[in-house]
Amino acid sequence: MDSKTSRLRALPSVDAVLKSNEAALLLERFGQKAATAAVRLMLSEARAELKAGASDPPSTAKVVERAFASLANDDRSTLRPLFNLTGTVLHTNLGRALIAEAAIEAAVAAMRDPVALEYDLSNGKRGERDDHIRALLRELTGAEDATVVNNNAAAVLLALNTLAGGREAIVSRGELIEIGGAFRMPDIMSRAGAKLVEVGTTNRTHPNDYRSAVNAATGVILKVHTSNYRIMGFTTEVAAPELAEIATEARVPLMNDLGSGSLIDLSQFGLKREPTVRDAISEGADIVTFSGDKLLGGPQAGFIVGKRELIAAINRNPMKRALRVDKIRLAAIEATLKLYRDPDRLAERLPTLRLLARPQADIAAQAKRILPAVQSAVGPGFSVQARECQSQIGSGALPLDTIASFCLAISSNSGGLALERLSTDLRRLERPVIGRLEDGALILDLRCLTDEAAFLSVLANLNLHDPA
Ligand SMILES: *Cc1c(COP(=O)(O)O)cnc(C)c1O
Repeated sequence: MDSKTSRLRALPSVDAVLKSNEAALLLERFGQKAATAAVRLMLSEARAELKAGASDPPSTAKVVERAFASLANDDRSTLRPLFNLTGTVLHTNLGRALIAEAAIEAAVAAMRDPVALEYDLSNGKRGERDDHIRALLRELTGAEDATVVNNNAAAVLLALNTLAGGREAIVSRGELIEIGGAFRMPDIMSRAGAKLVEVGTTNRTHPNDYRSAVNAATGVILKVHTSNYRIMGFTTEVAAPELAEIATEARVPLMNDLGSGSLIDLSQFGLKREPTVRDAISEGADIVTFSGDKLLGGPQAGFIVGKRELIAAINRNPMKRALRVDKIRLAAIEATLKLYRDPDRLAERLPTLRLLARPQADIAAQAKRILPAVQSAVGPGFSVQARECQSQIGSGALPLDTIASFCLAISSNSGGLALERLSTDLRRLERPVIGRLEDGALILDLRCLTDEAAFLSVLANLNLHDPA
């Protein structure tokens, strides 16, 4: 018998591995079915290795260890929490706003038990989903009525379809935005069944451009917040109050898509003032749409507020049913909105605002405090420096206004490839760390680093790529 055959014979059987003491934990955690499949796979890999000339068959303990590692890796959620050190607070690809504790509790309670989602507890009759947020949104925005759908893209689609389906929608050429992904205003309009009527030019649109476009087929005049860009220089746009006059004269509704739409004046937190939803309503918009998970700091949602009869028409649109939100989000939305009743404690309670308002000195102190630990985790091949940087709000809010922040800037002694490898290693951590590569350095903006202890303990497990 040649030695290869004897080594193959020395491999334990699937059954023997599963019956071993070492496998108890594997079975306990992953169950019989998955454990058996993983052990079988590990043994067949070991067999292939032996056939290819490997010298020693793995021990039972080794087979179990490999099966455990493979199943544990498979078991990790791809949606597991990570550290957003990109410097973009509302990062769309990282899930935008973090939800306030009160909203998390409300959502969990709604998940666990039945709730009066569409049930009127006062009379035992059928109720409406929107009743949970209608009064709150009226109170916070000054609008007559309100409804909520899946996200702001849905809000725009539904409102346009209701107001201008089979009719014309007038928009300035300066506001025909693409938000990213497939959200382009002209495409949304055509999917909403509205005929786009562009007026003005890219940089200048005048009142008469709107006036001369209005006709019997006009369904809506649309104003869009140019969220993610700004046109500068020789520019003019028609301000909302004047546009409202034009719309009133023409007897067509004015819709204002605010995008991020804040419910409060952000200048009190050191940010630039964005028009609030209340401003847009008081400037005469008949319908205002805005997101739940941008500056508002709640779960993904799209709000539509405005004139009672228009909201009623929107609610009668069969599309509404396809775009509605579930009880979990509705509970979180209600709890988030309620926090706005106490503006003094909002920055404490709303994570988005807390992060945006975090003082630079606080972030700088943190950078200096954790620098030695980060330097020791990345090793002597890299040099880590604490320095100033700029954070962004993100999600198209105030695109040109950055917030002074502090970061750890990691540079490599051996070039850009090493930094890219380090980024990859950081993304592979149990709790991935996401920074940004900029000007030859890996920037870890610490504005959003709230759980410092967790960060340091995760970082201690950093396994660097072998230096090439
Ligand atoms: C972000 C944005 C949208 C889309 O909102 P979502 O909540 O991402 O669906 C629409 N319009 C404007 C102006 C925006 O900024």
